[in-house]
Amino acid sequence: MSKRRRLIVANWKMYGRLTSGLVLARDIAAFAETARPLSFDLVLCPPATLTWAIGETLQGTQVMLGGQDCHTATHGAYTGDISAAMLVDLGCRYVILGHSERRHGHGESNELIAKKVEAAQVAGLTTIVCVGETAEDLKAGATAEIIGKQVRESLPKNIRTSDLVIAYEPVWAIGTGQQPEPKDIVAVNRHIRNALGDIGETVRLLYGGSVTPSNAGGILAEDEIDGLLVGSASLNADGFWAITEPCRI
Ligand code: PEP
Repeated sequence: MSKRRRLIVANWKMYGRLTSGLVLARDIAAFAETARPLSFDLVLCPPATLTWAIGETLQGTQVMLGGQDCHTATHGAYTGDISAAMLVDLGCRYVILGHSERRHGHGESNELIAKKVEAAQVAGLTTIVCVGETAEDLKAGATAEIIGKQVRESLPKNIRTSDLVIAYEPVWAIGTGQQPEPKDIVAVNRHIRNALGDIGETVRLLYGGSVTPSNAGGILAEDEIDGLLVGSASLNADGFWAITEPCRI
């Protein structure tokens, strides 16, 4: 079992309306109550529109709140964006940065992500930085090289390691039902720890990509894997709670 405290993160992406989102958050928090005190960290990252309402729902529960992205600036003329300080105002403790849907769908570069990580850490958030190779990278045998570059370039110089989490999310595994073998995830995690240098052993490394209740146990059985970033399977309270089962000791 991992020697670092485990972390399970729900990324709801652009799913959830007010009622369905509140019901889902309430159900997950109720499950968490059955395992008080929780032996791992549990975070929900709803769409920005639901953050305030879900923050209220989660107050006094064991479930923490996170954002799915933030801007590099604290405030300004940036239509449609949200600053890290605004997420903190809403009760967020975490933020996902550099998700492949932002890298590829919004053209986010490693350099931009590093600036976001810096801004988020200055605001007091724990940053979950996503890295992952595409199917083409995998085919070309370039996974280690791509991941190493993303890790080195997506982190600012003055990173606060206690507030850093890295999620390995192969792009080809997100929402596809495909997955690397646990041993392959472990091999990538070793590359990530090497790329991080001195801080490598302290940073929590998550896996994300088509995690379900039936495959979570095999992944979490690996000491090198400190938790999971879960997309579609986090939209069902029973299934999501089942995913956390191996962390409940
Ligand atoms: C994700 O979006 O971070 C993710 C891992 O999605 P899914 O679990 O649906 O593959």
